[in-house]
Amino acid sequence: MKRYVYDFADGRAEEADLLGGKGAGLAEMTRLGLPVPPGFTVTTEACRFFLAQGHVPEGLDWEIDDRLATLEATMGRDFGDPDEPLLLSVRSGARFSMPGMMDTILDLGLNDVTVTGFAKSLGQERAAWDCYRRLVQMFGATVLGVPDRLFDDAITAQRKRRGAASDIELTTEDLRELTGIFRRILCDEVGRDFPQDPREQLRLAVRAVFRSWQGERARVYRRREGIPEDLGTAVNVQAMVFGNLGPDSGTGVAFTRDPATGRPGVYGDYLAEAQGEDVVAGIRNTVPLQRLAELDPSCHRELLGHLHVLEEHYRDLCDVEFTIERGRLWILQTRIGKRTAEAAFRIAAQLVVERTISLDEALLRVNGEQLTRLMVPRFTAAADHAPLATGLAASPGAAVGAAAFSSAEAVRRSAAGQRVVLVRPETSPDDLPGMLAAEAVLTSRGGRTSHAAVVARGLGKVCVCGAESLRVEPGHERFTTADGTVVSAGDVISVDGTLGTVHLGALPLTDSPVSAHLLGGLPEVEDSDTVDLVGAVGMMLQHADRSSRMQVRANADTPEDAAKALTLGARGIGLCRTEHMFLGERRQLVEDMVLADTASGRDAALARLLPLQRGDFEAILAAMDGLPVTVRLLDPPLHEFLPDRTALAVSVAADRAAGRPVSPDRERLLAAVERMHEENPMLGLRGVRLGLLVPGLVAMQVRALAEAVAARRLVGGDPHAELMVPLVDTVEELRQVRKEVDRVLAEVSTETGVPVDLPLGTMIELPRAALTAGTIAAEAEFFSFGTNDLTQTTWGLSRDDAEAAFLTAYLERGILRVSPFETLDTEGVGRLVELGVREGRATRPHLGTGVCGEHGGDPASIRFFHRAGLDYVSCSPLRVPVARLEAGRAAVSAS
Ligand code: ADP
Ligand code: MG
Ligand code: MG
Repeated sequence: MKRYVYDFADGRAEEADLLGGKGAGLAEMTRLGLPVPPGFTVTTEACRFFLAQGHVPEGLDWEIDDRLATLEATMGRDFGDPDEPLLLSVRSGARFSMPGMMDTILDLGLNDVTVTGFAKSLGQERAAWDCYRRLVQMFGATVLGVPDRLFDDAITAQRKRRGAASDIELTTEDLRELTGIFRRILCDEVGRDFPQDPREQLRLAVRAVFRSWQGERARVYRRREGIPEDLGTAVNVQAMVFGNLGPDSGTGVAFTRDPATGRPGVYGDYLAEAQGEDVVAGIRNTVPLQRLAELDPSCHRELLGHLHVLEEHYRDLCDVEFTIERGRLWILQTRIGKRTAEAAFRIAAQLVVERTISLDEALLRVNGEQLTRLMVPRFTAAADHAPLATGLAASPGAAVGAAAFSSAEAVRRSAAGQRVVLVRPETSPDDLPGMLAAEAVLTSRGGRTSHAAVVARGLGKVCVCGAESLRVEPGHERFTTADGTVVSAGDVISVDGTLGTVHLGALPLTDSPVSAHLLGGLPEVEDSDTVDLVGAVGMMLQHADRSSRMQVRANADTPEDAAKALTLGARGIGLCRTEHMFLGERRQLVEDMVLADTASGRDAALARLLPLQRGDFEAILAAMDGLPVTVRLLDPPLHEFLPDRTALAVSVAADRAAGRPVSPDRERLLAAVERMHEENPMLGLRGVRLGLLVPGLVAMQVRALAEAVAARRLVGGDPHAELMVPLVDTVEELRQVRKEVDRVLAEVSTETGVPVDLPLGTMIELPRAALTAGTIAAEAEFFSFGTNDLTQTTWGLSRDDAEAAFLTAYLERGILRVSPFETLDTEGVGRLVELGVREGRATRPHLGTGVCGEHGGDPASIRFFHRAGLDYVSCSPLRVPVARLEAGRAAVSAS
């Protein structure tokens, strides 16, 4: 018979698919001999069965009873025993950790009878009633679906009645009364009392945890993190230990290194006289872990030992939950800790230096999204601006936004296009949508391991938490600072998650230290954290460059951009657009060329453009000396360089109406603009079509480039220019362009005495070009996939129109998971890329292949391009480091 339940002692870390991450971790720690309260895990398979069939697999309850009997024997206590009851926790735990997204129920097994026995066995009546009221509350919320708020309100009311400043001041009698109030809430809300039979409690709890996989917040979280919908959660049933038995008890969270900054050394929060979620819920303020060394030196020492064992074992940052019950330490959970981008790089590098992991492994532990985050700007000297308040720097970065005081408000404002800062006293899992919508999260309560902090770090959002001097009043949509400043909904504030400060208004931004370093600037004053971080980034990039098969080039149109790209590590230019070389003062020359009625007039205009283009090319080739520079012939339709049709028509009409003379030049200009007007310019006379139909245009551009190459050679340079033809549909277009190119090259070679030969390639940016790549490769020495146009033409959507009108709706409705303009659509557009590479190489084995759309800088797309076998990706200069990192990671993970 199939097994659905495993003792912790029988599982292993490798079985996370079946046991969930938490179950596998508990099993692994049990095996390592750590003090884990015993228990067992119901598999994810049982959950999948339940979700599909609507009932648990046959025999599951029997199997659970059987394991429970073993647990009772181990503990020497029986579940439901009136004198000395065993209490259980029932905990969710999926394959991938989803902190706080699903449900846990503690203290299962209490009822009106066992609570008395439990009190006696503890010798503590108050603690027993504290557990009972927690059970009714968690059971009510999780199993019966009663809104948590009702219980919270009841506790607050009870505290007020008793004049208690915090929960620990409530007396036994208060808690007994509260339990009764909670039970009345259950009756009122769902028409049933709290079940007294412990076995029924357990059965219902297990099913509720299964069901919590499909809860709203779990779904939102999975969508965001890309966790598959069909994994299901395991359920861990475990003997309870109690952190709420007095000052010699407590509960805490510890990390083996600082997950916010990556600083070495253990780090965490501790809360005496507390159970379960008290630490993360931010209801009372925690103390830093170092304080435990004074409160309970022996437990502290023991904990450090366990943390060391765990980090050695998992070879990574571990995040650990622990509880101290009357001076005895218990470990309740471990997992690989979530961390900020900064911590990810620093920890990976530290572990390499400590010889715990290899450079390859380190490279796979960081990613391009994180590097992007490290390159976003910081506030210019936030320290110089008096803050509204200071809290804990829980998740670094700089964010500016309008204050929003509820999750719904944050979502609404962000949908309306505003940048938002979510401000709450503390956050709960229900605030997830608002946190996703916000740039930053600010709370007045809670430590660095509070819900707000943990979730924000996981999402890469800026967070300042525990800004205690703020009075946050969500009901009034405002917060008040210590000196009485009132900030209302919609007021703009700046949150510095690196310093932990909040400021009124929008503070100015500056380059991040990582960007500054990559760009070659070395600010003089630097703290050791910054030095460590830039060192770690450097180490990863260096290893990425060593490992990658694909080259990274940049899209750059000016010598300045070329130089910048080079500093950022680009190995050439994959796309040099010539259009800007037709703008500014040169626009008049374009106009002259278009308006010329004679061939000689047109040639004269082109001849005046020639030296200007040549100058640009020379400067770019100088900046990229020794490296490839791919120059694309003019792509956009000519009317983009002419005045706006409507404006011109109106002004000419106005002059006529007023009887003012209209110059023949303007008449001709208007006629030309009208003649060139296109209904759908994206699919009109542009790209190679323009080059073929405007006499002299290609020749001028080729000549400018060839002369620039010759000039560079004559001064001892090493230019590697390549010519790229845009928007080719058929090989015949390319053949005709090639004739022209060959003719001009021959001329320039003769004139200059420098033999100039430019490789000629084409963009593959139309489906037809990809489909006929085998034929086109006969005329092309390289292909560069223009994935922007290729995406537009494959999908039949214009990017600007789609983004303005309906892309958001498509994403919201789940028709699209990501925008195909951000991450390459591998199923559709990607197949055209693969086909193009394959058939192109079949014709020409040494065909060069690259990509020059924006996808060239997108991490997920880069991984695909590696698999598709491309030689290089080209992206905007600032994305170059990210692309280098991802190209390296792609190579390492494929090997
Ligand atoms: P999450 O996945 O949200 O972290 P957990 O299942 O870890 O949820 O449990 C929630 C809280 O209850 C945690 O603080 C955990 O340490 C505590 N807890 C879980 N099991 C026990 C237990 N057997 N004894 C005491 N506390 C427990
Ligand atoms: Mg936990
Ligand atoms: Mg294009």
